[in-house]
Amino acid sequence: MAHVWTAGRLALDFANAASPGSYADLAQWAGEAGVVTPAEARALARAAARRRPAAAAALMQATALQASIASVMLAVAERRPPPTRALAELNDALAIAVARRRLVRRGAGFVWEWNAGRDQLDRLLWPVIRSAADVLTSRDVAAVRACAASGCRRLFLDGSRNGTRRWCEMAVCGNRAKVRRHYTRRRSRSARSAGGKSSSANRRGSTHSIAWPSRGSIAPSSRRQS
Ligand SMILES: [Zn+2]
Repeated sequence: MAHVWTAGRLALDFANAASPGSYADLAQWAGEAGVVTPAEARALARAAARRRPAAAAALMQATALQASIASVMLAVAERRPPPTRALAELNDALAIAVARRRLVRRGAGFVWEWNAGRDQLDRLLWPVIRSAADVLTSRDVAAVRACAASGCRRLFLDGSRNGTRRWCEMAVCGNRAKVRRHYTRRRSRSARSAGGKSSSANRRGSTHSIAWPSRGSIAPSSRRQS
């Protein structure tokens, strides 16, 4: 599962992550994301190995949650209404998570805690659900973006001062776009000097014919193997 933390909010990183192939993947992600401690993540993975039906159910919930958060957040980023079903699914997940919150006395005041046994396998998802709700109900919602690189669309929170961040990672998608522009300009210049054949069709063709260097596909799933 994902080991890249560029989105700025837990729910967005979760939406960007490669789909977990097993509960152990999910637990590892949650440990690295700080949802639980690494020791808790290992304990949950061990519990999942003992309780396979519950682990399969939690994994299915995680996959569905990932799809609904991604769908809602992408709509937010594109300034269109979210798909009704995705929002309904997120609300269903929220109802479960909210029911698990409780107030606990801490110092002179109270704090929220999650009311769950240590082996409760789906508890990894509750902080993610809360994060999604927090993004959607705060000023963050206006800063949700999808990467502008074609074939990427990873989500992130734009924290730039003027709100013009375009790429999930400048070092990957931003540089790739820069290289693409550079080649396009160079090809169209050489086409012009070779007899003025610089129609837009030629330019498009030339961009597509470039063999990109070694990093391969920029699709998130292929970049995120551990
Ligand atoms: Zn990107």
